[in-house]
Amino acid sequence: MAIKIYIDQGHNPQNPNAGAEGNGYREQDLVFTIGLELADILRAEGYDVRLSRPTADTQLGTSNASSLAARVNDANAWGADYFISLHANASSIASASGSEALVYRLGSVAAELGEDILDGLADTTGLPDRGVTPRPNLYVLRRTQMPAVLLELGFITNKRDADLMAGRPELFAQGIAEGINEFVNDTADTAVRPTPEIPNGEGLTYAQFLQQNPYKGYLKVQAFRGDQTYPVPGVAVTVSREFADGRRVFFEGVTDENGILDGIDLPAAPRGESLVPDDPLTTAVYDLSARHPLYRDVDVPIEIYEGITAIQPLRLLLKEE
Ligand SMILES: [Zn+2]
Repeated sequence: MAIKIYIDQGHNPQNPNAGAEGNGYREQDLVFTIGLELADILRAEGYDVRLSRPTADTQLGTSNASSLAARVNDANAWGADYFISLHANASSIASASGSEALVYRLGSVAAELGEDILDGLADTTGLPDRGVTPRPNLYVLRRTQMPAVLLELGFITNKRDADLMAGRPELFAQGIAEGINEFVNDTADTAVRPTPEIPNGEGLTYAQFLQQNPYKGYLKVQAFRGDQTYPVPGVAVTVSREFADGRRVFFEGVTDENGILDGIDLPAAPRGESLVPDDPLTTAVYDLSARHPLYRDVDVPIEIYEGITAIQPLRLLLKEE
């Protein structure tokens, strides 16, 4: 089956969610064209491709938020294998130049893909490689259910970068395609390696764990007093995990006035076909600890699944109870 690549041409033709402008160009127009060229190249090479803006007048959503959600929902519903979002950078420093890749998390499949794409871009465009940067807050990186890379192809505020993006869009398309091919060939090599003995278990280093859990799952915590009637605000929640190279904290937060802590993102393994509970291949296990001066400590293991919000109830007992 062909690999499915979702190409998201950033922004909209008009506001809401129009792009940056510089040197007489508009970001949304530059990335629209580069996206079309990239789709042509990838299709010719046997990939299955879907574009967020297939025509020049495709306008997505009615607000910034719904414009971003439209792309992510489309890619998730389509079941894309990879999500590539195309953008142009802007800076008040006119000399700032080059390509960079933003990903949800370093040490992930997306980060590897981003590195390969940057290599390809530097190859074909000659622009500086500014590296891969984690940006977990970006909506299209955190809500996509597949490895996602947001590319800042060049600076629209830099004359050389902007003229190149406008005048030679095919160079950017070729560079990205080159990187995707490089990545896919590498992945094909590693796919035949035997699976580790304990896929998600003890003895892993932090880096190995991230490799095995390149996706995102979500956690919602609901703290209440023993009788389930009263929510408990102010509970300090920590999500961590022990690794061969020490314990790592993934999340720290405090429950709100409704006793709730929501939208916690954690690395998760690809879900695959089944949703078998306790399947070590499909769940990532963490330690959750809850602390509140009036209540007894709670320490529970939690399991996180790709693309799913796990709801963890925290039943708290007063210390003197
Ligand atoms: Zn942009």
